[in-house]
Amino acid sequence: MVLGRKDSMVTAVGFDLDGTLFDDRQYVRAGLKAAARALESRTGVDAREDLLKAYFRRDIREGTFDHVLDARDLSPDLVPELVAAYHDHDDDLVAYPETVPVLESLDDYRLGLLTGGTNGGEKLERLAIASYFDAVVVTADGDATKRDPEPFRELCDALDVEPSEMAYVGDRPELDFARPNDLGMYTVRVMKGQYADVAPESDPEEPDATIDSLAALPGLLRRRASPE
Ligand SMILES: [Mg+2]
Repeated sequence: MVLGRKDSMVTAVGFDLDGTLFDDRQYVRAGLKAAARALESRTGVDAREDLLKAYFRRDIREGTFDHVLDARDLSPDLVPELVAAYHDHDDDLVAYPETVPVLESLDDYRLGLLTGGTNGGEKLERLAIASYFDAVVVTADGDATKRDPEPFRELCDALDVEPSEMAYVGDRPELDFARPNDLGMYTVRVMKGQYADVAPESDPEEPDATIDSLAALPGLLRRRASPE
């Protein structure tokens, strides 16, 4: 039998970070509070509740600062300063309880991490999980994004595997499955975090498999390797 690209033996697992290995709403919440402190010290306006409400209740996840500044009649020129304050906080981050046990149980695989998030490397340190990964690619450090194939290829090259030998695990249909699917990776969606109820918008955004928790990943990979 000739193996199709999606039927190859998986020897490496690549992970997304935000929402996949930890609930990144804790990073967002701490960042919005830090930005609110910066705004207050600059303008005297306390917009903390506005920012939290815009993001978490009204789902304004892009352009949150522009939106709140506009509603308060404040200059959009403040946005870069607020974005800097947002990423500058150093509150503790906590991984999902299943994250470390799962990473430990995958010791037969080469493990990689590919994240588009700002401060990717630093988040890994704060989560105390950096040592589990044989390779880390942070696209915020380069020109390409997860909408491009290059960072996914870079992760494979760093782990010395073909894309068809890698499973990529993510949480966000818009970013995590289209390029890995194109490259022939086995794609797994974890239904966790703030994008858990977002449906894929097109076929290429559909993962090969869906799990409710990372805890189901080792079993999924085992069953795929040796089906009954
Ligand atoms: Mg994510």
